[in-house]
Amino acid sequence: MKTIVAATRNRHKIDEIGEITGKFGMSIISRDDAGVPPVEIPETGKTFEENSYIKAYEIMKLCGQITVADDSGLVVDCLNGAPGVYSARFAGFEGLWPEDGGGTDTGDKDNNAKLIRLINGVPYEDRTARFVSVITMVYPDGKTIVARGTVEGHLILEERGEAGFGYDPLFIPEGYDKTFGELGQEIKNSISHRARALQVLHEKLEKDFE
Ligand code: IMP
Repeated sequence: MKTIVAATRNRHKIDEIGEITGKFGMSIISRDDAGVPPVEIPETGKTFEENSYIKAYEIMKLCGQITVADDSGLVVDCLNGAPGVYSARFAGFEGLWPEDGGGTDTGDKDNNAKLIRLINGVPYEDRTARFVSVITMVYPDGKTIVARGTVEGHLILEERGEAGFGYDPLFIPEGYDKTFGELGQEIKNSISHRARALQVLHEKLEKDFE
């Protein structure tokens, strides 16, 4: 089995990515387990693609192994695309967009509370949103593979369900009547933005080895 290093420390994400990459013969280890020093990589990009690349490239330089990074977030149509790349930091600033990069990550509860406050009053049919995941794999020789996945859905105004993380309790994926928080990991992993991005990654890797 090939080992790849995950640039994230988010246990949920490592588990989700690992559950899927495992099917494709790639085992994943965290950056800590790969012996990467605990430096923070500032997410200074304005797009998911930029941030995903920055994280993968910087960690690859520190460990010298193939590294995979995911940058993800929630894009809400009635909020002009916010919180987008600032999803993890949403509660740390006023309004839709930060003036200074958005600071450090804030907790799920606070992020969800801010989202509910901002979409309150918007009718359900206009509360459309999508999760986006961009997975970037960077090889020590500089080769880069980029894969994007999305899942469309609607937002509700109170949290439902305990599974998952982040905005999961507020997000009902298209074709379902339960939130990701209620649907649980197995269903989420079969339709999520990350699963779709990983599928794309897999297809690109397969092509590569043809
Ligand atoms: P990142 O770690 O910079 O990619 O930030 C991702 C943020 O987007 C998370 O902290 C969550 O707030 C949100 N997010 C990304 N993926 C998911 C998901 O699968 N469920 C719920 N929230 C997510």
